[in-house]
Amino acid sequence: MKAAILPDFGQPLALEDVPRPVPETDEVLIEVEVCGVCHSDLHIAHGDLPGFRAATKPRLILGHEVVGRVVEKGAAVVDLAIGDRVGVAWLHWACGECEPCREGLENLCRRGVVTGMMVDGGYAEFMRAKASHTLRVPDGLAPEQAAPLFCAGVTVYRALKNAQVRAGQRVAVFGIGGLGHLAVQVARAFGAEVIALDVAESKLALARELGAAATFNVTDPDVLKAVRKLGAVHVAVVTSAAKAAYDLAFKCLRPGGTLAVVGLPAEPLQFAALGIVSNEARIVGAAVGTREDLRAVLALAAAGQLQCRVETQPLAQVNEALDRMQRGDIQGRIVLRCC
Ligand code: ZN
Ligand code: ZN
Repeated sequence: MKAAILPDFGQPLALEDVPRPVPETDEVLIEVEVCGVCHSDLHIAHGDLPGFRAATKPRLILGHEVVGRVVEKGAAVVDLAIGDRVGVAWLHWACGECEPCREGLENLCRRGVVTGMMVDGGYAEFMRAKASHTLRVPDGLAPEQAAPLFCAGVTVYRALKNAQVRAGQRVAVFGIGGLGHLAVQVARAFGAEVIALDVAESKLALARELGAAATFNVTDPDVLKAVRKLGAVHVAVVTSAAKAAYDLAFKCLRPGGTLAVVGLPAEPLQFAALGIVSNEARIVGAAVGTREDLRAVLALAAAGQLQCRVETQPLAQVNEALDRMQRGDIQGRIVLRCC
């Protein structure tokens, strides 16, 4: 089969012919239709996050927003059938036995396996996946619409869920890229009024199209004043990897507000203790999501409440797609067509 292989950190991916994987008894073989390109793929390929670097398998096939058809299955697989359209997410497998798993936090499993990092992912014609963590895609949802939900969609869904967004609240979304444009829609599905912030006018225009009530260009020096004039925000979710976005987001919180951390700047975040104490600010993280979160986000999309802005490119263009992601030159998400 054709697959895009990462020969070593920092190198371009190489399109090679490699043996088609054979599923174990608890696995399925998926013929990959599409696979989304995620910002984490850049971090994995560059090896610039020590935690990722140490866990990356040699000659890796990247890709953790995978949608395709089941074409083979192991003897122990009962709940999936040949021909089912399914998706595979970042969380490839969780043990089900550790403390986080038993508390419903399988996304924090201490023995968790990550797709497209610890095991091969979906930048290929075929991939194998654990049946337990392979989810059926609802009928009526196109594969290129479904794929970005398996990381970008589920991540922002969990971030807004962890931030306990309620109907009528004001939610600021910082960074209207692959994650942010979905965050705008998920926040609206939760009944919130959305304020979108970015450096690019084209991305702010997209946010308005998707229902943002107000948009601000963060290069405008008066943006903080303008957000405060709206009453500041109950929740700020930062999908941007710029530390400056976090600094501004924290100042945009109203008393009792919540900062949801999603984007990963290289530098540590810094907030004055007095700022946290005097406003009773909350800071919450979101680590992709659980299968339950994924089902919820797939259901939102199937109900027409989430539309991914996608651009489809052939698998052979994967390096160009990664370069464009590096430059921030993408509206929404690129998905690679793999077969
Ligand atoms: Zn991802
Ligand atoms: Zn576990």
